[in-house]
Amino acid sequence: MKCKFCQIPSEEIITETKTSIIRLGSQLHEGHTQIVFKRHVENIHDLSEEEFIEFSKDLRNAAKAVKIALNPDKMNYALYGNWEPHLHWHIYPRYKNKPDFGQPPHLKWKVNGKRVNPPKLEDFTASPMNETDKKSLKEQLRKLL
Ligand SMILES: [Zn+2]
Repeated sequence: MKCKFCQIPSEEIITETKTSIIRLGSQLHEGHTQIVFKRHVENIHDLSEEEFIEFSKDLRNAAKAVKIALNPDKMNYALYGNWEPHLHWHIYPRYKNKPDFGQPPHLKWKVNGKRVNPPKLEDFTASPMNETDKKSLKEQLRKLL
């Protein structure tokens, strides 16, 4: 069965490795990047040893690229696979000048099939990137990966 992550549009793909597709996330945190495991796997314990090593390398390489491209003050990482049957890492660059620095990164919730903001979104002062900045970031990351 094909799902959203089986059909990531080519224009969204920064790079593709043996095991992962690297793409930008929502940009509610500037530079939010995802490392999507290509095949359907929902749990880390279901990965083979080789897949785990490759997936971990992809995360580390993407994190290095985001650090070089944006130089955030800190980065948070989260591993999910709740909505689509693909494990995927999120890299959330964090900035000291944002009021949510030091707090868990903002996440969308899914309620009755709709994506909604969690309570107190105003506390996160989201400032999504515009399309020009997103394109520029994707090009920077592509060169680094
Ligand atoms: Zn899929």
